[in-house]
Formats: sequence, C-alpha cells, structure tokens
Amino acid sequence: MKVLITGAAGFLGSHLTDRFLADGHSVVGLDNFITGHRDNLAHLANEPRFTFMEHNISEYTEVPGGLDGVLHFASPASPIDYLELPIQTLKVGSLGTHNALGIALAKKARFFIASTSEVYGDPLVHPQTESYWGNVNPIGPRGVYDEAKRFAEAITMAYHRYHGVDTRIVRIFNTYGPRMRPRDGRVVSNFIVQALNGEPITIYGDGSQTRSFCYVEDEVEGIYRLFNSGDAFPTNIGNPVEYTVKQLAEIVVELTQTQSQISYKPLPEDDPKVRQPDITRARTMLKWEPKVDVREGISRTINYFRTLLGTPRMAARSAAPR
Ligand code: UDP
Repeated sequence: MKVLITGAAGFLGSHLTDRFLADGHSVVGLDNFITGHRDNLAHLANEPRFTFMEHNISEYTEVPGGLDGVLHFASPASPIDYLELPIQTLKVGSLGTHNALGIALAKKARFFIASTSEVYGDPLVHPQTESYWGNVNPIGPRGVYDEAKRFAEAITMAYHRYHGVDTRIVRIFNTYGPRMRPRDGRVVSNFIVQALNGEPITIYGDGSQTRSFCYVEDEVEGIYRLFNSGDAFPTNIGNPVEYTVKQLAEIVVELTQTQSQISYKPLPEDDPKVRQPDITRARTMLKWEPKVDVREGISRTINYFRTLLGTPRMAARSAAPR
C-alpha cells in the first residue's frame, strides 16, 4: 500500500508513519511544522519508501501518483496549542478534512480521520461509549478543537454516505510517549519535564479530575488495526485504566525520584472532569487492547525525556516559552 499521512511530523503522525513503513508499505508524509517537528522524521532521511511534502493541508494540494489510504492526523492537539492557534485548529479540522477527503475520493483511497475523546466534551456518561453524543461547549475556549473534530466526523460520514468513500473514524484518548514535545503543555510531558528539571509539578484544580492514559505504541497499533480491518463508525482507541491527575503526579514523582513539590494552579475553563474510554468495540472488532501499563509507559517516557533534555539543543528548545 501507499498512504498519505497528514501531520506526519507530529507525535502520533510520525509513529504511525513508522508503523506503516515497518509493514513494508510506502508513506507520503505531509506537514507544515506548526506543531510537528522535523526531528520526528529525521530517522527516515534515507528511507526510499518515505517521501515528504511540506504543506498546510487546510490549503488545496495535489499529491502525485496513486494512493491506497489517506490518514488525516494534522491538527494542533494539545490544549495550549489549540488555544494559541484557534483559527488554524478550526481550519485544519474543517477545510483540512475536506481537502484530505477530496484526495481520498480522487484516488479511490480509504480515508481515516483522527478524531478525539474531546467530542464527548465534559461527559455526562461514564465511561464513554461511541454511542454517546457528548457534552461540548461550542463557544468555550476548547470548542475550537472539539467542534473542528465533530465537524470532521460529520463530513467524513457525509463523504461515506454520499460519495461511497471507504472511511474510518478513530476517537483518540489521552496518549503519551516518546516524541512528545517537552513543553507541549499536556499533563504527562509537563509533569515529567518539571520533575526532571526539579521544577514545581503543576496540578490544575485539585487534581481530582480523571484521564486514562494510553502508551503511544498501543495507540498506534489500535489505529493501524482500525485502518486495516475496521468499519465506518467511530471507534474509541485508548487505555481504559483511569487515574486522577493527582495520582499521575504521584507516579511521576515516584518514578523520577524528584525533589519537586506539587504546586496547585487554576483549572482551565471547560476542563473535562472525567474521561475513560469504553473499548468494547475495539476489543471485539479489532481484537485490540492496550498492553503497556502506565508505570511501564511512564518509565519509558521518562527515559526519552532524560535523553532529550540532556542534549543542549533540546534543553534550549524545552526551555523556550510557548
Ligand atoms: N493538567 C494539569 N497540569 C498540567 C497540565 C495539565 O493538572 O501541567 C491537567 C489538565 O487540567 C487536565 C489533565 O491534566 O485535567 C489532562 O490535561 P492535558 O492537557 O494533558 O489533556 P486534556 O485531556 O485536557 O486534553
């Protein structure tokens, strides 16, 4: 197969690129480096099955040659990124998805959209099943991401129903691991980098809100299986083991053996109080479930950040305010 992956220089996009290449497929990566980084693709410099296009998928483009799949992963995905880039986030979820669907239609390729647990908003159903329609504030600060992804799901289903495009929708829950940016603002990267630097660990609110953290290798395996053997309806891919943010801070403190103190900061507006995927559909349809438990995954991620922060160029990058 030959597939196009938008957002290929991002955290998930680059791991997904590796997964397709590992199975002998060819990948055209596309990214405009707004939140992705060239370093995530540096190891593919001499890979003949990988080609790269620097482009913003929110603008029309043509991709030469045939394609079997189009996987649209381009988007700011961390809350601080999409709060800083609200218009780009809305555009890449709407115009970007439209352009990526157009490419899939023209090439008769399978289309795959990276959606999110944020479509459930601050959920009133717990854990979240795919049949839950969500509780999203469309005009709140997070609405730019949530509504962009909800629109992306809607237009994907429209292309499926109206044009007969073979489509997939994954709802990705909190994912972590190597290649996260040190200062991307997410809880796992923040806590680990703060712990390694001996800085205060910033818990927003009282830390009683919950998230369910999936190691990137598991997440990408679920996505890969969904691409190959799923159906058109949305599928949750995430790790159903739920932690409070405070428990996560305690795990990071223990595994890094840091002297850092906990520092409490205000809870961001519309921050979901709970989040946990029901993965019955993925278990049944894809025979998939996560394998890496949080301590193992966090340990691997600590090792990654230790190495990254140890190199002077990366230390400078991590220190730069975003
Ligand atoms: N959070 C925190 N401290 C941080 C960063 C995040 O307590 O330094 C909290 C945040 O308020 C949320 C949870 O951790 O409740 C997960 O935040 P993240 O930005 O990783 O992703 P989200 O699930 O909110 O999209």
